[in-house]
Amino acid sequence: MRILIVEDEAKIATSIRDVLVDSGFVPEISTDGEDAWFRGGTEDYSAAILDIGLPKLDGLSVLRNWRNEKIDMPVILLTAKGSWSERVDGIDAGADDYLVKPFHMEELIARLRALLRRAGADKNTRLKAGPLVLDTKQMRVTIDGSPVNVTPLEFRLLNYLLHQRGRVISQEELATNIYFQDQEPDSNAIEVLVGRLRRKLKAKVIQTRRGFGYMIPDEAPDSGDPA
Ligand code: CA
Repeated sequence: MRILIVEDEAKIATSIRDVLVDSGFVPEISTDGEDAWFRGGTEDYSAAILDIGLPKLDGLSVLRNWRNEKIDMPVILLTAKGSWSERVDGIDAGADDYLVKPFHMEELIARLRALLRRAGADKNTRLKAGPLVLDTKQMRVTIDGSPVNVTPLEFRLLNYLLHQRGRVISQEELATNIYFQDQEPDSNAIEVLVGRLRRKLKAKVIQTRRGFGYMIPDEAPDSGDPA
């Protein structure tokens, strides 16, 4: 899941990014309000973490602009310590939650997960499809209860397909949602990745819709032969 981080302080932005990566998300950093406004309106993010004090356009204005344009992704606002008026303004502007700086990264992740759950994007921390269980909290994948060793990239792929269950996802959409901004995957990267993952899972969980993409169907088989 892609998460937009809007923060001009490089140190904070990179620590948020690192903890999001470790938690299986695909974060992108925007360092000023105008850029954030534009990207929030043109790109597809599951949520945004938005600082108030930003160059070019402040965070509250960014949020108001998004809401005026009916961009309804969940937003966690980062506010300065002790500024209750900022928090009130933030909620008025359409923030779903806020965190007061400085905050613990664990709390940010917990709030983000809760928000995604409420938004319906992350209903459960344990996602299932037939014999496959993906635990987004423990970052574990099991088949029929036995752990499967997956790379972070493979985990993000499974996580995205499970969240979009029952829908065919194009290779392009998969790539934007599982690779980081600075990564340029090869044209057949997704195909190779899915092939490798199928061999690891040893179960027919991911289906191919030739010419359209991949999907995990709503009703996955309970156990299966190698795909
Ligand atoms: Ca700032």
